[in-house]
Amino acid sequence: MYKTKAYAAASATSPLASATIKRRDPTENDVQIEILFCGICHSDLHSVRNEWSDFMSTTYPIVPGHEIVGRVTQVGAAVTKFKSGDLVGVGCMVDSDWGCPRCKAGLEQFCSSVIFTYNSPDKHQTAPVTYGGYSDSIVVDQRFVLRVPSNLDPAGVAPLLCAGITTYSPLRHWGVTEGKKVGVVGLGGLGHMGVKLAHTMGAHVVVFTTSPDKTEDALRLGADEVVVSHNADEMQQHAGSFDFILDTVSAKHDINAYLNLLSLDGNITLVGAPEKPLEVAAFSLIMARRSLSGSSIGGIAETQEMLDFCGEHNITADVEVIPIQEVNEAYERLLKSDVKYRFVIDMASLKAE
Ligand code: NAP
Ligand code: ZN
Repeated sequence: MYKTKAYAAASATSPLASATIKRRDPTENDVQIEILFCGICHSDLHSVRNEWSDFMSTTYPIVPGHEIVGRVTQVGAAVTKFKSGDLVGVGCMVDSDWGCPRCKAGLEQFCSSVIFTYNSPDKHQTAPVTYGGYSDSIVVDQRFVLRVPSNLDPAGVAPLLCAGITTYSPLRHWGVTEGKKVGVVGLGGLGHMGVKLAHTMGAHVVVFTTSPDKTEDALRLGADEVVVSHNADEMQQHAGSFDFILDTVSAKHDINAYLNLLSLDGNITLVGAPEKPLEVAAFSLIMARRSLSGSSIGGIAETQEMLDFCGEHNITADVEVIPIQEVNEAYERLLKSDVKYRFVIDMASLKAE
């Protein structure tokens, strides 16, 4: 075991602060990574503040962070996929059982034994739970390490490891291609990636936002139309017209307003994970055989496919790079929907702690 620097929260009401944590020495199949950049996902904030306690309680201290880009510093004897010096990424998962039908189908995110990058049981028993990417370094099984395309800016790649795959996977699953009309609700970290990806897949993209000042950005990012969601007339103009809507909103909101915009057999997929349940009116679904579903990140092979797709099309996140000392302020700005469009921590700043 070795010690490394991190930022951790000691309780649901504590700010993130400098801490020292232990990591395991790389075992046979492990890759040790020096973390260069880590994105700030709204899930980090939900977890730090224990907002998902009904579903998965947070164990403290928590070291969040699952949008990791770094350099390989050491590999175990059985590692064949990576070598020292490679630029790599790690997303929301670091292990699963690999034997179950879901793992075999490339759906490790739905494995009943999936180990998330933070706040999951640490089967190596280095710590009570896994610790995430707000840290100098991390050690991960090679099967959960991704190759980063060399033509992309590493800071802009970090958010692809969660925001990118979480939007790419349902867009692919629901057959988004040229000619489809696709809505993206909420223009934050996930939403802005959803817009870029759906646009690149050839869809006609409509952004729904509560922030009128994001209109110009939405168009620049690839939206064909922008609707300010509290404007009932604008909403009504799109009634019954969407093939697919991706809902990325992090807080409670009226889902029926969006269900009513779906066409016959249209689908709305929730990726946003508000703390409180959403109410669904049966008639919003019944009248046009609409469906409501959810989606969680994406499997490892699909994550690599998404990174390669982004490499091919030169897609990265729009990022505001911050030193780790500003992380608590960034969380407050996330709550005000004031992020354009992903905060990414430059981990070099942790060396000053
Ligand atoms: P984010 O950057 O904070 O973006 C969320 C956006 O939702 C905001 O920018 C805002 O967009 C909109 N919004 C916020 N509060 C709202 C409200 N009260 N009513 C209507 N719209 C509101 O968050 P994120 O990192 O993209 O994450 C979004 C959600 O996805 C979070 O709940 C997160 O935990 C979840 N998530 C899920 C997965 C998964 O696998 N399913 C993966 C990652 C994240 P506008 O200003 O445009 O309205
Ligand atoms: Zn995330």
